[in-house]
Amino acid sequence: MRDELVVVTGAGGFIGGALVANFRRRGFERIRAVDIKPLERWYQRLDGAENIGSLDLKELPACRRAVKDADWVYNLAADMGGMGFIENNRALCMLSVLINTHLLEAAREAGVARFFYSSSACVYNHDKQTDPAVTGLKEEDAYPAMPEDGYGWEKLFSERMCRHFSEDFGLTTRVVRYHNVYGPLGTYDGGREKAPAAICRKVIAAKLSRNHEIEIWGSGNQTRSFMYIDDCLKGSQEIMRSESITFPINLGSSEKVSINRLVDVVEEIAGIKLKRKYNLDAPKGVNGRNSDNTLIQKMLGWEPSIPLKTGLERTYAWIYDQIKSGDSMLAAVNRW
Ligand code: NAD
Repeated sequence: MRDELVVVTGAGGFIGGALVANFRRRGFERIRAVDIKPLERWYQRLDGAENIGSLDLKELPACRRAVKDADWVYNLAADMGGMGFIENNRALCMLSVLINTHLLEAAREAGVARFFYSSSACVYNHDKQTDPAVTGLKEEDAYPAMPEDGYGWEKLFSERMCRHFSEDFGLTTRVVRYHNVYGPLGTYDGGREKAPAAICRKVIAAKLSRNHEIEIWGSGNQTRSFMYIDDCLKGSQEIMRSESITFPINLGSSEKVSINRLVDVVEEIAGIKLKRKYNLDAPKGVNGRNSDNTLIQKMLGWEPSIPLKTGLERTYAWIYDQIKSGDSMLAAVNRW
């Protein structure tokens, strides 16, 4: 497999960039990394990979170029962000359907051996997520369908497109449902950041400015689980390699925490206590969400296990360094 051509789309972003870095570390020689962003705005740009920037994968010809001669394709490209972004940009999120659809079509034409799609826990039925004390979501809880408006509908539709390309056209596809992924080199400002990075940034800003207050979106009682990037990379590759995981599967931590608890942990890391101000009008998403890992345990005998505190310590330290040096996200990335 090390001499096969692996294509990673969305490689200028958080998970895609980390995946390319992981392949390079593990000695993969033939990697093509693709993103719509120009190369100088990529979060990671790895020597030894064929890096193609400014390629809009909503277009079919661009997808053909991206997957030419490819053996394995990992599609991590999407127009996305945290709740603040997806609740206010539903059409943009849904337009990502063009990326996956055209990539599938191009992959089929090119005879790609295996195709990976990064779906999301946002596909799950809203009615199963009304209580912060939610039990973990099982894969079958996606139906009957009532996913997150915009972003979740696109993910659910694209999952199904993978399934039918597989059933009707014989393209081998693997679909994972990520539950909140976080870590260094992820977005932490600019409006697309997700809760762990946003809270680290706010705590750091409070610490550095000595204004010991923090704004929390919603009541803080809403629950989620958070998966550290290293678990995400391991799980994604194992699912891609698996011969038997032919259906969408959860990839997330089953350590359920409230947003208030997340703030507690970041405060502990920072050695600070902040006055909390709750903004009940801000986007907050569903009340409760967690990953049921019965299926991944059964299929792989493994599940994400890096503790939240460990992952947050690394993430906090990285964001702290960037903010302390006064850099923008982009400058921080270029310096890393
Ligand atoms: P990210 O925003 O950091 O990376 C996505 C990348 O896709 C960006 O670099 C962006 O420029 C690129 N992109 C967008 N439109 C494109 C286009 N038309 N052509 C080419 N590239 C394009 O996001 P991420 O956190 O790395 O997420 C990767 C994948 O995982 C996405 O599909 C996302 O929906 C999914 N996901 C992520 C999370 C999470 O917590 N990070 C959770 C669930 C699902």
